[in-house]
Amino acid sequence: MIDRLPTINQLLKNLQQVPYLASKNLYRVASFFLSADDAKIEHFCHVLLRAKKNVIKCQRCAFWQERDQDCIFCSDPKRNSGLVCVVESWQDLFVIDRAGGFSGVYHVLGGAICPLEGIGPEDLTINMLIKRVEGNTIQEIIFALNQTPEGEATTAYIAKKLRVFNIKLSSLARGIPVGSTLEYMDRLTISKAISERRPF
Ligand SMILES: [Zn+2]
Repeated sequence: MIDRLPTINQLLKNLQQVPYLASKNLYRVASFFLSADDAKIEHFCHVLLRAKKNVIKCQRCAFWQERDQDCIFCSDPKRNSGLVCVVESWQDLFVIDRAGGFSGVYHVLGGAICPLEGIGPEDLTINMLIKRVEGNTIQEIIFALNQTPEGEATTAYIAKKLRVFNIKLSSLARGIPVGSTLEYMDRLTISKAISERRPF
């Protein structure tokens, strides 16, 4: 049936390529675009293209930055660049930063090692982090990965690589329920977990 509607078919096929867009939501999203007025769609496409053109990843911490500006964290003189908080995703970075109480800088790994999903160490920014440590300006690394099997395994993998350097390694305190993700934690829990971090 859908083959007889080539334009809709193409729209659905393209939406299908968007990760995390559950299949049952696909039709709702397609309806949203088909029902929206032309100006709104044009604006949406413009915003998307502009973001693609003007947003790049910081070469140091792998967080997003505007192409014509320095990284808002790495270039901030009020932040302690010797204290690096390692997170899986930039959503987690936002969660920690919103919680307050952390004045260091960040490192965004881009996920956690997960052999079942085909994500290996080389798919993450682990080598970038090691290069940062080799630069000799870092005193402490705080691991703030999710306390899931993948997060814990990734922390252990990176910690092993960093043991050869003379820096302090710590990780978030066990205030966060095991098996949960940082994204859904309240600010106080996050803030406590940062202030009560433990040696790894
Ligand atoms: Zn940066």
